[in-house]
Amino acid sequence: MRAWLILYLLCLSPLTYADKLRFSLHKLTSDKPGPTMLVIGGIQGDEPGGFTAASMLVTNYKIKSGNVWVVPNLNFASIIRRSRGIYGDMNRKFRRLAENDPEYAEVQKIKKIILDQDVDIILNLHDGSGFYRKKYINKLYNPRRWGQSIIIDQEKIQHKQFGHLNAIASFVQESINKQLKNSDKFFYVKNTRTNKGNPEMEKSLTYFAIRHHKPAFAVEASKNFLTHERTYYHLLAVEGFMHKLGIGFERDFKMTRRSVAHQIGSNLQISLYDNRINLDVANSRRVLNYIPLKKHADIEYKKSNPLLAIIDHPHGLKVRYGNRFVTSLRPQYFEYDDSLQSLQLEIDGRKKTVNIGDRIHVDKSFRVLADRDYRVNVIGFSRPGLKNENQLLVRRKHIQSRFSVDRGRKVFRVELYRGERFSGMILVDFSKQQKTGAARKMFSNEITSSRL
Ligand SMILES: [Zn+2]
Repeated sequence: MRAWLILYLLCLSPLTYADKLRFSLHKLTSDKPGPTMLVIGGIQGDEPGGFTAASMLVTNYKIKSGNVWVVPNLNFASIIRRSRGIYGDMNRKFRRLAENDPEYAEVQKIKKIILDQDVDIILNLHDGSGFYRKKYINKLYNPRRWGQSIIIDQEKIQHKQFGHLNAIASFVQESINKQLKNSDKFFYVKNTRTNKGNPEMEKSLTYFAIRHHKPAFAVEASKNFLTHERTYYHLLAVEGFMHKLGIGFERDFKMTRRSVAHQIGSNLQISLYDNRINLDVANSRRVLNYIPLKKHADIEYKKSNPLLAIIDHPHGLKVRYGNRFVTSLRPQYFEYDDSLQSLQLEIDGRKKTVNIGDRIHVDKSFRVLADRDYRVNVIGFSRPGLKNENQLLVRRKHIQSRFSVDRGRKVFRVELYRGERFSGMILVDFSKQQKTGAARKMFSNEITSSRL
């Protein structure tokens, strides 16, 4: 086949949104000097404890001294497909890698970050099988297992501050175990003695760092636990490292298994096309119908959590959060109208200015007070013969429950159109307790760098 024909066919072959997923780097910086720790999650896509913990550093922590850089989704395409590695094990690609490997570019990118002169120390978060113990106890607890361990490749390396890998790992082991009641769940330090002839580990990310004189550790939470419990252990480990290195931090939840579980999967928002549409998907229905997407354009979105992704699917689009399915978006395509940034609404009898993309709380009733140019569609409201709900008083009972965005049947879409063009959406929330939580920071689905 001729080259131009091959090229032409390559251009025709549809790249899915999943194939286009790239990892993100989040720089959590502080005003006070101190070391910089790089935390990596998701090198294998089926280890949710590690990547969920890394993502929580981005969404729930504030660094007070020193810096933490986070790549919470290194093998993002595999995370979203719930696969260890759609192109093989990424953690064996750090010694030699063919340039035509589909992950070549991503591996080069993370290597560059690891070698960045600002990075002092690297943590790679994994979920491992069983429970590592120095002596054989039984099939589950023995030296060949990986779970509940801090992995080092060797005792120490040449490094001005953090060369004593074993001493640092032992400190972290202690700081984790002090917080655990049940010794079955204790952590131990596992030395893989990679340079003494361990060809598999030589190909790993941490050993790449070690070869370049960068202190690096892997943390393994046991796959015998559910995701939230693994995440809890990872966070105990990460905090142990931060204490040891003198990195100051705050977090917005209590360090218990229960409150970690509560944080996972909460605050999931997707904002499409510069906030023309802002969907709260944490508690959404399995399918959202007639979502007005932009005609002839790539889907463009921001998200409140680095593990969120929109991927294409024969029956529309799917929103995924790490390994989990969140909701399906069944689109209807429109040209977009950019004329509207905000509008007036009467909410429970009081006039308010509302921005496109906002979520507003309503006790009893609302009335959209848009210009005559716009047609208002309250999704789930219908009155025979009426095509425009502008200026109309709307109560909860006027809207059919099955059209709600959320499973709790409290949140509804109000859409504005100008002629045939879509102008934007707001969400109307009839739930009793008003959500007062601070608005989440939104991340783009490509590389982001954020300052908390
Ligand atoms: Zn792993």
